[in-house]
Amino acid sequence: MRTIHEPARETQVYDEVEVLVVGSGPAGHSAAMAASRAGVGRVGLVERFNHLGGMPTGGYVVYIPSLGYEPDIWRIYGIQKEWVERLKAHGGDSLIQPPEEDVGSRDPQRIHHWKSYFGFIISGMVSNSIDADPDMLKVVLDEMIEDENGRIIPYMQCWGVDAVMDGDTIRGVVIESKEGRRAIMAKVVIDATGDGDIAAFAGCDYEDDWDPAIRSSNLASCFRLGGVDFRKYADFKADLSAEELNKLNRGFKAMHGAFGPNAMARNDQAWINTAWLGSCMKIADLTKHDRDMRLCMEDYLKYVRQVPGMENAYLLDMAPQSGTRGGRRILCEYTLTSEEFEAPVHHEDVVMVTGRYTDRLHAPAYVPYRTMVPKQAENLLVTGRAYSSTAKANDSANVIPHCVIMGQAAGIAAAIAIADGVKTRDISIAKLHEEMRRQDMYVPEN
Ligand SMILES: Cc1cc2nc3c(=O)[nH]c(=O)nc-3n(C[C@H](O)[C@H](O)[C@H](O)COP(=O)(O)OP(=O)(O)OC[C@H]3O[C@@H](n4cnc5c(N)ncnc54)[C@H](O)[C@@H]3O)c2cc1C
Repeated sequence: MRTIHEPARETQVYDEVEVLVVGSGPAGHSAAMAASRAGVGRVGLVERFNHLGGMPTGGYVVYIPSLGYEPDIWRIYGIQKEWVERLKAHGGDSLIQPPEEDVGSRDPQRIHHWKSYFGFIISGMVSNSIDADPDMLKVVLDEMIEDENGRIIPYMQCWGVDAVMDGDTIRGVVIESKEGRRAIMAKVVIDATGDGDIAAFAGCDYEDDWDPAIRSSNLASCFRLGGVDFRKYADFKADLSAEELNKLNRGFKAMHGAFGPNAMARNDQAWINTAWLGSCMKIADLTKHDRDMRLCMEDYLKYVRQVPGMENAYLLDMAPQSGTRGGRRILCEYTLTSEEFEAPVHHEDVVMVTGRYTDRLHAPAYVPYRTMVPKQAENLLVTGRAYSSTAKANDSANVIPHCVIMGQAAGIAAAIAIADGVKTRDISIAKLHEEMRRQDMYVPEN
C-alpha cells in the first residue's frame, strides 16, 4: 500500500473533562447521562453529526422493542423508560405504544391490531415496544442533556479520529472539527462510536467478521414516506395470503434490499427499512449503498403507490445517517457467546440480563461488565454495539435498549473509577450495582 509522510505537529487542547464519551447514540448518550447522574462534574460528549441519538434519530430506526427481564418481561427500566415517558409528554405524534391493558395479551383481536406494527408481537404476545418519532427523540435527548445543568458538554460535528495514549493508558481523544484538529483530555474515555473507532485507534484488538446470513452484516439507508394511510395499508396486508404477501415483499426487496412500509408514530407516514450486504467500516460500501438506494427511490414510489393505503405516498425524507448495524467488536476481558442464550452463565459483574430480543420466553444471557473493558487499554470502556461478543451473540443483543443499558452501566462505571481513584477494570462491582439500582436499572438479586 502506498503511504505518505505526515509531519509531527502540536495539537491544541480544546477542553479537559473527567469522562469523555465519543458517539452519542443510545449507548453514548446514556453513558453521558449516567456518568453525570453518578456525580461526575464534567462529562464531554463528542458527536460527528449535528444531532444526538445515533441510529434511532439519524438512522430512522424508529422501532424500539421492549426489553424486559425476569421477573417482569414487559417492564422497561432506567434511561430507556425515561425516553418513553419524555416522548409521551410531547404528545400523541411522538410515539406509538400499546396501552397497558394490551401488553402481554394473547387475545387474537389485539394481536391482529398490533401485528401490523413491525415487531410489536413478541413470543406470541403484544409487547411493550414503541415506535418513536426520530425528530422528537432528538428533542428529548437534547432536553435530557439540558436538565443536567451544564455537567454534560456536547461537542457537535466533531469526529473522534485518534486516541491520545500514554503507554497503555488513554488520556484523551483527538478530534477533527471545523476549527481544525484538536484534543480533548479526560480521565476516562468511553468509546460509544458503535464501531469501536477509538478503541481501535488505541491499539485494541478487535473482530469485524460478519456471517453474511446475519442481520448485522447489512448496511441500510432508511427513508420515510408521507401522504399514506397506514391503517388502510395494514388492513389490506392482513387479508393477503402468505403467497401474496411474499410476492409483494419480493417486489420491495428487489429495490436495493428495501422492505415494505412500516408504521410510524403518525398514520400518514411510513418508515422504510432496508438491508444491503456491506460493511460500515469500508469507504466504498458506505459510498455506494445510500447512492444506490436514492437511484431506485422513484421506482419504489411507483411500486408502492399501487398498494391500497399508499396511493398518495410521496418521499418525505431519507435518513441523514447511513444505517450501521455491525462494525468492530472490541476484544475485552470477557466475550459474550451465543451459547449463553441457551445455557445462562451467571456472572458476578452482570450489567444486563437479556433474552434474544425476538424471544421473551427463552433463558436470558447475563452480560458481564467485563465485555466493555478492553484487554489492551487502561481507563477506556467500550459500550454499545462494539462490546466484546461473537458475531452471533452481538446480533442477538445489540439493539437500541441493549445499547441504552450498556451505556448507562458504562457511565456509572466511569464515575466510580474517578470517585475511587482506580482503573476502570478495577472498580467495585458492589458499588456499580448499587448505583445501577439507584438509577432504576435492573440488577438480579443473586
Ligand atoms: C436499519 C437498521 C435497523 C435497525 N432496526 C432496529 C430496530 O428495529 N430496533 C432496535 O432496537 N434496533 C435496531 N437496529 C440496531 C440499533 O439501531 C443499533 O444497534 C443501535 O442504535 C446501536 O447503538 P450504539 O449507541 O451502539 O451505536 P449507534 O446508534 O450507531 O450510535 C453511534 C454514534 O456515534 C457516532 N460516531 C460514530 N463514529 C464516530 C466518531 N469517530 N466520532 C464521533 N462520533 C462518532 C455516530 O454518529 C452515532 O451518533 C437497527 C439498526 C439499523 C442500522
